Amino acid sequence: MSYIGRFAPSPSGPLHFGSLVAALGSYFQAKSQQGQWLVRIEDLDPPREMAGASELILNTLEAYQLHWDGEVVYQSQRHGLYQQQIEQWLQQGQAYYCQCTRKAIKASGGFYLGTCRNEKLAGNEPYAIRLKMTHPVYHFDDQKHGQLAIPKALADEDFIIKRRDGLFAYNLAVVLDDIDQDVTEVVRGADLIEPTGRQISLYQMLGHQPVSYLHLPLALDEHGNKLSKQNHAPAIDNNNPKPALIEAMRFLGFEMSSDICQASLAEIIAWGVSNWQIKQLPNSTEITPRFSNRPC
Ligand code: GLU
Repeated sequence: MSYIGRFAPSPSGPLHFGSLVAALGSYFQAKSQQGQWLVRIEDLDPPREMAGASELILNTLEAYQLHWDGEVVYQSQRHGLYQQQIEQWLQQGQAYYCQCTRKAIKASGGFYLGTCRNEKLAGNEPYAIRLKMTHPVYHFDDQKHGQLAIPKALADEDFIIKRRDGLFAYNLAVVLDDIDQDVTEVVRGADLIEPTGRQISLYQMLGHQPVSYLHLPLALDEHGNKLSKQNHAPAIDNNNPKPALIEAMRFLGFEMSSDICQASLAEIIAWGVSNWQIKQLPNSTEITPRFSNRPC
């Protein structure tokens, strides 16, 4: 089977160093196997999005010579696919409406314990929709880290597939899209290790073979927080991509010699593709990058 990988940014802001690491890692992993590298914009949550961020992200990928295969897919245009699956599960009794508030769940220990499972609520109130967990996943194999455990309470939970406010849940959309796009491996940041259990459960409930997973180290700021758009991580420079590219490749475990540093952007990327190996990745799942003023 030929390799299909993807980079799936949420357009909550421009690409920052952490998302460049995810873009590069997924690109190198796909291209080193002569695979396809797809880009999917995960614009599922309009209140958390920034106007114009999708275009900015795509411009940045182009500026860094990360050329995707095929057309960019937007989750905002795929609600029909998600809704259809939810309706099928509702009809089969596999999914159900839930009126529990976040506050009530917090008060009962932080995990939803199936309170509305047998309530048979009808769907005309603004209820959330949950999936009956019939295939809990307590661990999975990661290409770098080997077997990773998922907390039992999290794995057992009937999780939300459509929120009370009508937004589709990330886990559902990611899995339906990855199946629809024939993705064979998911390469992304280690912040998404926990949701992987639920995603594998979804594959099993949908009767599909799960993809393989590779989680890349997560870039932290100097206070130990994830670099993220919500934390206002600085956007990377589109006009002078080389310094951030080199820092991100070092972060991914490449030894960047001065010869490589002097090469053109396209040559550096091509060199990265031919030299990429999973074993070069740091063992740690969280790292604070030490940016040098002169990366080369
Ligand atoms: N859209 C998610 C994010 O930006 C990534 C989803 C994934 O790679 O599975 O964090």
